[in-house]
Amino acid sequence: MKTIGMLGGMSWESTAEYYRAVNERVREVAGGLHSAPILLDSVDFADIEPLQRAGDWEGAGELLAEHARRVEEAGADLLILCTNTMHRVIAQIEAAISIPVVHIADAVAAAIAAQGLTRVGLLGTAFTMEQPFYRERIAQHDIEVVVPDAADRALVHRVIYDELVHGVIDDGSREAMRGVIRRLIGEGAEGVILGCTEIELLVGPDDSPVPVFPSALLHAHAAVDAALR
Ligand code: GLU
Repeated sequence: MKTIGMLGGMSWESTAEYYRAVNERVREVAGGLHSAPILLDSVDFADIEPLQRAGDWEGAGELLAEHARRVEEAGADLLILCTNTMHRVIAQIEAAISIPVVHIADAVAAAIAAQGLTRVGLLGTAFTMEQPFYRERIAQHDIEVVVPDAADRALVHRVIYDELVHGVIDDGSREAMRGVIRRLIGEGAEGVILGCTEIELLVGPDDSPVPVFPSALLHAHAAVDAALR
């Protein structure tokens, strides 16, 4: 099995879930005592978040490209970037390394397509919901993305940065997220992308009348599939 390089720490709350999901998938597929060969580089999120806020994507991309180079040099055969938002700079990362990158939105889109859905809602950071990089990647798979209105986008963004990345799981916020999901369904969403790797710590299939697509879990599974090819 190939070695999976992981760029994590953004936030570590979800990276911990990635670690578990990758290993559980390997156990499921390979059985026995098998576990996943992983090289994890966990970035300090306090170095990243100010760059996001300042819109310094170039600077964030340079920083992550340097981390990606280290993971490649350490011997990884492929790379996953364990955050949706930072896929904003995936081109800079890809340009810095020669190992393949498994894109989180491709993993999510494949799962949506497998269910035959063509219009889905997107929950994520304001960057992911409002900038085109994520929606356009999903659209390449002939899937249309609807985002919450401005008030709901602010709500989702706040829950991510004020609660989930700090490890706070709040019942009231879960209820609020359910409301956002219901409104997305009202806009014609046939499914909902949990397009922030921490959101799946708060909501899951039981919180939605339509299928949900947990980005971290689907990404972790796609990485294992790629590592086994
Ligand atoms: N992990 C998150 C994501 O998937 C949000 C935190 C970040 O901005 O990196 O987008």
